[in-house]
Amino acid sequence: MLDFKLSQPGQDKPSAAQGGEQVIDLLIIGGGPAGLTAAIYAGRAALKAVLLVGSMAGGQIANTDRVENYPGFPEGISGAELAQRFQSQAEHFVTKLANDFVTEVDFSSSPFTVKTHLETYRGRAVIVATGAFPRRLGVPGEKEFFGRGVSTCATCDGFFYRDRRVVVVGGGDSAIDEGLFLTKFASEVVVVHRRDQLRATKSLQERAFANSKMQFVWDTVVEEILGGETVTGVRVRNVKTDETSTIETDGVFVYVGLVPGTKLFEGQLEMNEQGYIVTDAHQCTSVPGVFAAGDVQSPDFRQVVIAAGAGAKAVIEADRYLAEATGPHA
Ligand code: NAP
Repeated sequence: MLDFKLSQPGQDKPSAAQGGEQVIDLLIIGGGPAGLTAAIYAGRAALKAVLLVGSMAGGQIANTDRVENYPGFPEGISGAELAQRFQSQAEHFVTKLANDFVTEVDFSSSPFTVKTHLETYRGRAVIVATGAFPRRLGVPGEKEFFGRGVSTCATCDGFFYRDRRVVVVGGGDSAIDEGLFLTKFASEVVVVHRRDQLRATKSLQERAFANSKMQFVWDTVVEEILGGETVTGVRVRNVKTDETSTIETDGVFVYVGLVPGTKLFEGQLEMNEQGYIVTDAHQCTSVPGVFAAGDVQSPDFRQVVIAAGAGAKAVIEADRYLAEATGPHA
């Protein structure tokens, strides 16, 4: 479904019928903090911009319980509310915000072509901000039980595990943050980590170690997720002793890192070995006129504030590119 949201006074709204013919200044693909910030900056730069956000805006923060490190919210803010605020502000500025999925891109010549389920867009510049997605463990049972006891979203599914034991896999910020969130519901949160030290930041570690509901199983990997109709346990192996055992549980929350959302851009943009889009310090990709921002181009920081900053930088650079390519826009 297309959702036309206007606007900035003085900007023309491209209609659905015009989508195929009209060349838009800037196409922004992805509705997380980078894409939404890019939309705000595009409006402020008086660029005609279309923001394609998929099913809903917000990206990873929409599924985050609380964000405590985004400036301006001294008490913290729920991820869903922060995402909503980003979206409201973007809607105010962007020419069009469409809930539509991109299926194909062609960056071989300018104007660039971006096809969605519903339309074909042509843009003089493009910002790719498609983010990153939870990595899967790839063990037997994970796929079969996904949505029936296996989850990557404690905020969405934690409620179902009231007074139950849950297993969290991973030792990074996500595992510990979401594990702490799960202690609101679960009777016990068992963190299974492949090493004997957490990767998570010290403050999260301190909170986790101080929480009596949090248990830790070190040097251990999950080899299989067990169950019948739903999950009943995980088979684990200690990597130091090679001993295997079973942990009984109703729910398994997998937080073993992220993979970039770059499949659409294979063969079009240069990527590194991990599949992240390569950019320079100005968010420029290997194709002049195509920019990338946020988790899709940087695995190193993954912070809302950094994704937002990169989205802003990408628009400033895109505006310069457009001015040089065609002269200043009206
Ligand atoms: P991450 O930092 O990459 O951590 C992934 C964790 O999963 C690591 O502990 C890793 O183990 C483990 N792991 C990876 N592959 C595994 C496998 N196949 N089997 C078992 N364990 C595996 O990912 P993240 O926790 O999702 O965080 C991503 C980024 O978002 C980070 O930059 C983080 O700082 C940021 N983030 C920040 C916040 C916050 O600021 N509150 C919240 C969430 C995320 P090793 O430690 O052994 O490598």
